[in-house]
Amino acid sequence: MIQRDYLIIGSGIGGASVCEAIRQYDKKGSVTLVGSETFYPYKRWMLSKQFLRDKTPAPKKLTCLEEDWFAAHKIETRFGTVVTQFNIDRRLAVLGNGETIEFKKACLAMGSRPVRPSVAGIGLGNVIYLRTIRDALALREMAQSEKMIVVVGGGLLACETAASLRQSKLKVAVMHRGKALLNRYLDPETATWVTEEFGKHGVSLLLGSALNGFEGKTVLRNIQTKSGERVPAGVAVVACGSEPSLDIVRNTPLSGPHGSPVSEYLETEEKGIYAVGDLAFYPDRLMGGMRRQTHWENAREQGLIAGANITGKKRQRYEQIPYFWTEMFDLKFDFVGDFVLPPTRIELNGAYSKGRFILRYFQGEKLRGIVLCRHSASDVESAKNELRQAVAK
Ligand SMILES: Cc1cc2nc3c(=O)[nH]c(=O)nc-3n(C[C@H](O)[C@H](O)[C@H](O)COP(=O)(O)OP(=O)(O)OC[C@H]3O[C@@H](n4cnc5c(N)ncnc54)[C@H](O)[C@@H]3O)c2cc1C
Repeated sequence: MIQRDYLIIGSGIGGASVCEAIRQYDKKGSVTLVGSETFYPYKRWMLSKQFLRDKTPAPKKLTCLEEDWFAAHKIETRFGTVVTQFNIDRRLAVLGNGETIEFKKACLAMGSRPVRPSVAGIGLGNVIYLRTIRDALALREMAQSEKMIVVVGGGLLACETAASLRQSKLKVAVMHRGKALLNRYLDPETATWVTEEFGKHGVSLLLGSALNGFEGKTVLRNIQTKSGERVPAGVAVVACGSEPSLDIVRNTPLSGPHGSPVSEYLETEEKGIYAVGDLAFYPDRLMGGMRRQTHWENAREQGLIAGANITGKKRQRYEQIPYFWTEMFDLKFDFVGDFVLPPTRIELNGAYSKGRFILRYFQGEKLRGIVLCRHSASDVESAKNELRQAVAK
């Protein structure tokens, strides 16, 4: 049996950052990073952006931590390998090839996976998702030879994907059950403005259209809406949200309805077992309540904190203002704070017509979120500080 001091499951940015931080505080402990994808940890966020638009996409350009780094830091990597079982009591993990790793401490960093809507035809060829490098390469390949690509969803991933495909001069429609794109994050007026921008760029908008199913014998031909409409499509990209990848700890205290519950130190209720990134359900010490974020910076920062804590040489709390960004066409939005509830009051600085503005979202008198459109990194930092001060009052 293989024995390790630390076992990290999942080789996305969360798992990779845990490894980095472990080596900062423990130069000697044995570490294995297991990941089901064959690639070294990479910038997943680029898949719906530049990588999808690139004429000659090179997966290597996306890499965050190279092979040499792992070799130099004596971290064993097992990519293209799934952890199939995780025995909490015996501190054992079973790998897809049947090998078993006995560990002293572990970190769950399996991220999230696309939600598959339970509708007819979901298994048809050409009904695809965008989560991995392989998905992005397949989408690029398929899209070239199709007349119409329909992106199902109206959130961040759906909008980014539709914009990138359209920028690649492809014929694209977005099917969304809401009346405006990004309506989960933006107030109605701003969401309507964004939706109009998509229209101006030539994206067909199928709004207020709920998905009923996919039709075709072996490959997709039409998408059916709940109102009985049939939309012809050669490829459908389904971007209807994501769910935490918690199969290996299902029915244990490490898996809850909202993710893997952790303390402010990112430790689960099992001592020595941590969880980070898209699957961690953590107490938000700044904005209150429990939260699960599915965004890059959160996974990166949590990985660094959990990696330090897991060594026992540090004891740091995770205390970050929630943050994510998105890019579509020539727009870049930064979202600072909490966007779960619709604001009761909004302050707008700047103008939609100039495509550059800042929105402040309030709940009653309390500032809860700041949206920056086409602003600099230093403005984003100022917004984080402003919110940090506002919520501390
Ligand atoms: C196309 C796309 C664009 C995005 N754009 C943005 C953006 O603009 N801004 C932003 O803030 N965020 C963005 N995100 C979200 C961001 O990429 C994620 O929040 C981040 O990657 C989460 O990191 P993670 O390490 O928690 O999980 P992941 O990146 O999902 O990595 C988890 C890894 O674990 C592996 N795994 C799962 N189960 C097992 C198992 N049993 N055994 C072994 N390995 C396993 C998975 O295959 C995966 O490789 C985007 C996401 C996608 C898909």
